[in-house]
Amino acid sequence: MIRNVAIIYPNKFKAGISCLAVHILACHLSKYRDLNVGVYFLENYEKIKNFDAIFITLQYENDYFNAVTIVKDLKPHNPNAVFVAGGPCVMENFYPITDFFDAVIVGEIENSEVMLKVINKEFDVEGVYSKHAKKDKVKRIYPKKLGVEDYPIYQPSSEEGAYGKAFLLEIGRGCPRRCRFCLARAIYYPPRFRKLNDLMYLAEEGIKVNKVNKVALIAPSVGDYKYIVELCNFLDEKGVQISPSSLRADTLNDDLMRILKPKTLTIAPEAGSERLREFIKKDINEGDIFNAIELAKKYNVEKVKLYFMVGIPTETDEDIEELITLTKKIKKEIRRVEISVNPMIPKPHTDFEEEEFDLSSKKKIKYIEKALKKENIKVEYENFNSMICQCVLARGDEMLNKYLNCKNPTNFISALKKDKLLDKYLKVDKMPWKNIII
Ligand code: SF4
Repeated sequence: MIRNVAIIYPNKFKAGISCLAVHILACHLSKYRDLNVGVYFLENYEKIKNFDAIFITLQYENDYFNAVTIVKDLKPHNPNAVFVAGGPCVMENFYPITDFFDAVIVGEIENSEVMLKVINKEFDVEGVYSKHAKKDKVKRIYPKKLGVEDYPIYQPSSEEGAYGKAFLLEIGRGCPRRCRFCLARAIYYPPRFRKLNDLMYLAEEGIKVNKVNKVALIAPSVGDYKYIVELCNFLDEKGVQISPSSLRADTLNDDLMRILKPKTLTIAPEAGSERLREFIKKDINEGDIFNAIELAKKYNVEKVKLYFMVGIPTETDEDIEELITLTKKIKKEIRRVEISVNPMIPKPHTDFEEEEFDLSSKKKIKYIEKALKKENIKVEYENFNSMICQCVLARGDEMLNKYLNCKNPTNFISALKKDKLLDKYLKVDKMPWKNIII
């Protein structure tokens, strides 16, 4: 009997189509001949009727509101479906959303049968947490090696997506660096890179099958791949455009700049002062940053974008001043400089998991914006309520399920404030995610 299965990205098509997880899930499930698999987004999920299983991938905490709306909308039309969530947010801490799902999958699904098992309503499975088969601890599952077998060669793409019409090539998963605030490092440990030959094969096939002329390189830190120059040379010789998802300033060199010819160079010092960068173990010093700036000048980069966080534990006013000074110094070298500055979210499973969220971050961001505006430097930042919301959902417990009916971050925060719970969640009094064995 054919069973209908939906994979839903709980946000707009243009975001979901460039999400590699969506393609991996679709490819993985399409291997089972008795499953009929469809991919859906906010724009078209309402078509799903009388399905047998509905998977929602949770990539960002702020998508929880959409995910909850989707589940509530689909339940009446899909009375026999099993509702399942997965993704990095589930690995981080699934407790705030458990009421809405029959099961959550904690980890990476390649080389496992875990998805098929939950479709079959088997819930007492490694890597699965379910309200139907409650257990105290859940252990993350993941493949020890990343091969070619489970890789999505067929990938529909769109000009609207983050990388445009491109084939997404995942170089590796997990990061060999040690940044203390970083969730990706924690939940995708250990770092696993693919073999150069495998990547060349996947890229060639991907370009051919999908008729695209661009490859987006996906990894937490693309430049840390040992054979990155060889891979880029290979793609360049084929006349393929390359888009690297993330490059660290200290991995840039002439070879990469010559091939990639970026119009914009992004650098993430994260903290403005050398002291604070050392404290968070970012392992990028001012020398690395200015080497990258020199390369930017040499290769006619039009714009440099810097990523910073504020509200880092131990941060002082001097650190904020140093952030401003560093940015101004870079502006002297490059005509167009933009910065993105957001509060640090103390994430589960990281060194800062027990830290309080710094509510004064908002003031710090405004101060930085004012200081840099005079220098003609654009300062970008996220909506502060949505950052608070991200922090609460990342570290919250099961009690938050009922507040997720609030539809959006602003209502959610107001409801928590009304019940005098917001402070409790911005500090940490218990750590439910300790039951998730990463
Ligand atoms: S380099 Fe980037 S991905 Fe790697 S640990 Fe640091 S912040 Fe995380």
